[in-house]
Parts: sequence; C-alpha cells; structure tokens
Amino acid sequence: MDYQAVLEEVAAHARPYVRQGRVADYIPALEQVSADRFGIAVADINGDVYGVGDWETPFSVQSISKTFSLALVMAQSHGGHDSIWQRVGREPSGTPFNSLVQLEAENGIPRNPFINAGALVVTDRLQTLTGDASTSMLHFLREESGNEDLAFDQAVADSEAEHGDRNAALAHFMASFGNLENPVPSVIEHYFWQCSIEMSCRDLAVAGGFLARHGLRADGSRLLEAREAKRINAVMLTCGTYDAAGEFAYRVGLPAKSGVGGGIIAVIPGRCTLCVWSPALDARGNSVAGAAALDHFTTLTGWSVF
Ligand code: GLN
Repeated sequence: MDYQAVLEEVAAHARPYVRQGRVADYIPALEQVSADRFGIAVADINGDVYGVGDWETPFSVQSISKTFSLALVMAQSHGGHDSIWQRVGREPSGTPFNSLVQLEAENGIPRNPFINAGALVVTDRLQTLTGDASTSMLHFLREESGNEDLAFDQAVADSEAEHGDRNAALAHFMASFGNLENPVPSVIEHYFWQCSIEMSCRDLAVAGGFLARHGLRADGSRLLEAREAKRINAVMLTCGTYDAAGEFAYRVGLPAKSGVGGGIIAVIPGRCTLCVWSPALDARGNSVAGAAALDHFTTLTGWSVF
C-alpha cells in the first residue's frame, strides 16, 4: 500500500469539506483556531508514519483523551479492570456527549466511557490509581507518541474550567449517586487538563498504535491484553463519535474517537492507526472534513472492519 499516495488523494477529496462546519466555541479558547486547517497521518504497525497537510501541527485533543484514559485505567488495573465496568456502561447513548438526561434514570451510571459523564468516572478511577490523573496521562502520551515535548495548554484548560458548569453538574450528579471516589473539583480539574493536551495527527496516530497492535506497544512490550484492546476498539466503534456513532460506522466502518478540537483517531486492527484533524465540526461535535477523509480512506483501501 502506497500510504503517501492514498493520503494525498484522501486530502484532496476532503479539502472542500474543510469549511463546512463550525469551530467549537463553547470553550472560547478553542475558537481561536482557524477553520482552514487540515491534516492526516497514518502510523502502521511497524512504526512507519506518513502524513499530509497540517499533520505535524499540535491541536487540542479534547475527547480523544478519553480513549487513552480508558486504556491507562485498564493497563494500571492489572487485570482487575472489570471493576470500571460496574461504574460505567458500554452501550451507545444516542444523546449528545455532554447530556445529563439518562443519568438520573440510570442511577448515576453513565452509558459509556466516551461521553463526558463516563469519561469523568474513568478520570476519577485514574486519579485513585495514580494520585495524579492528568500528569499520568501526559507522561503516558509522551511515552507512546515518542514526543517528549507534549504539554497541557493552560489557556484551554482555564477556558474550559471557566465555562465548565455542565461538566461540574455531571460530576456532582454522579457523586450524589456515590459514583465518584474523589472530590468533584479534583475530578473535573484533571479532566479539563487531560482534554487540554496538545498533540499533532502524527503524535496521536503513533500513540494509538497499541490499538492496532492488539495491545502491544511500538517496542513490543505489552500495554494491554489483546482482549482489552479489542474491547476499547469495540467501544470506540459503538460510542466513540457520540450520537453519530451509527452514522460513522455506516460511512467509515472503523473504531474511532473524535474530539471537539476537530481531531479523530481511527483504528484498523492489525494494520495501522490514523488521525485526521480539521477544526470545523458538525452539529454532533465531529469534524466534518475529518469524517469525509476517513470515509474516503476506507472506500479507497477497502480497509474497514467490515
Ligand atoms: N473537554 C470537552 C468537554 O468536556 C470535550 C468534549 C469533546 O471533545 N467532545 O466538553
């Protein structure tokens, strides 16, 4: 497979979609980013990386971090990770990523780890396991991406905290059901920090390599059991793009996780991990050009999981 040629064709196909959505503005610091950006990278399981466009420009990972916090909780739980599934489900929610509506009827147990409520529970668990959830996450991402320069973006974290009433509400509501182990202010603070980490398409594609390698890191050491990697990929497919997960599976057919910074990572198990970035989003919070690019990538290569 000539990845470079495929990526160039995918980028040309996706370009007209770049301005079709809206850059997230509910976190004001995110609105500063130009809607014109587009980048895509592929890291294959042997460690070769290819990219086109703004593939080396860092952007705010936002909810893509939810994939890595779940992986880290599983990796740190040393086989006892099943307990996280007592506290968060693994069904698609069919509701927006920051919705409160299901939580009351479902006793403070979020539908899945990739909506905000579920990610807050995972961050809470990571805080208990590590004592410093966001710093552990940053170190983990530096190690997996091989980029020691990865950092938090303080302006984004502050902006999100300033406008964080809804996430605070989700956390307090779950705490009222006894589904948080740590104080709400600490859980949301670590969650905002983890969302603020800046990474490029290259960094994210490389860091997500263990998902394509059935749990193995780039150096061959084992991060997760194969069945754990399979589970994360399965939840990405069914829940990773929120209330558009059905549409995304229909169009792209890959496990994927999006973020409101405009990034999407996608996994082709046994082959490669992709990351695409373009900041303008559709109404559900997924990058318009990013989805068009992944759709075209699986059409051209025939490499969907279906
Ligand atoms: N930090 C964002 C929030 O909590 C993440 C949402 C997202 O990327 N979908 O609202």
